[in-house]
Amino acid sequence: MSIQNALTVDVEDYFQVSAFAKNVAPHDWDNFSLRVEQNTHKLLDLFDERQIKATFFVLGWVAERENSLILKIANRGHEVACHGYSHQLVYNQTPDVFRQETIRSKSLLEDIIQQPVRGYRAASYSITNRSLWALDILAEAGFDYDSSIFPVRHDRYGIPDSPEFPYVLDTPEGHKLVEFPLSTAKLMKYKLPIAGGGYFRLYPYWLSRAGLRQINRKEKPFIFYLHPWEVDPEQPRISASRLSRFRHYNNLDKCEDRLRQLTSDFQFTTVEKVLQNQGLL
Ligand SMILES: [Zn+2]
Repeated sequence: MSIQNALTVDVEDYFQVSAFAKNVAPHDWDNFSLRVEQNTHKLLDLFDERQIKATFFVLGWVAERENSLILKIANRGHEVACHGYSHQLVYNQTPDVFRQETIRSKSLLEDIIQQPVRGYRAASYSITNRSLWALDILAEAGFDYDSSIFPVRHDRYGIPDSPEFPYVLDTPEGHKLVEFPLSTAKLMKYKLPIAGGGYFRLYPYWLSRAGLRQINRKEKPFIFYLHPWEVDPEQPRISASRLSRFRHYNNLDKCEDRLRQLTSDFQFTTVEKVLQNQGLL
C-alpha cells in the first residue's frame, strides 16, 4: 500500500515573500498587480487532472482581496487553512499583534468558506525557539494543527533537534497541538530539507525523489509545499540582493514539470486527511 502524503500550497503573491521583505513593505503591496489568482488556478487545474486534494494555507491579505478564489479552492474539495495575515516573521512580532492577526485571518477565511479552519502555517516557518509562545496562541484560537516547524538549521527558521514526523506537542502553557514538521531526509550523511519550495527548485528532481522515497520507505508520510508564484516564470522581477533573487527566481521554469512528475511518483492528499490517517486528528 502506498502512503498518502500531504500536499500543501502557501497562497501568497510573488511580492510578499520573506526573501523580498527588505525591498517591498506591506504598505506597498497594493501597488503590485496580483498574479496569485491565475497561478493558483494553474495548480487547481493540475490537481483536478491528477484527482488530488491538497491543503491551501491562505494569507489573510490575499483572502480579503480574492474571496471568490478562496471559495473556489474549498468548493473544488480542497482544505483551506491559515497562513497568517501579513506574512511577517512570527519572532519579529509581539504576541499581541500575532494574536490579533491570526484571529483576524482565521475568521476572514471561515466567513468565506463557512467551515472551521483547522490548520496554521507561519510565514517562512518562523516558529522557532524564540517564538514558541505562538503555539499557545494557535491552540487558544482553536487551531487543531500547525505546520510551521522546520527541524533544520537555517538563517530564517528551524528548530534543529525537533521531531521529524507528525506528533502531538505540548505548548509552553500546556495546551496540546498536533504538529506536522516540514520534511527532511538524510542524504549523503546530511539532514536535508526536502519539503518543497526553493529546495525543490534547487535540487535535481532525482534528489528530491530519493529523499521523499526514503521517508515513505519508513512508512511515514511527508509534507510537501509550493507557492503559486513558483509555477509563474513570467512574473515581474523585483530588485533585491543576489541571494534573495537566487532563492526566489532559481529554476522557476522547471517547477511545473517537476510538480507533474512528483504527483505521478507519489500519493497525495490534504494535511487533515494525512493526520487523520496517522490517528492524530
Ligand atoms: Zn509564505
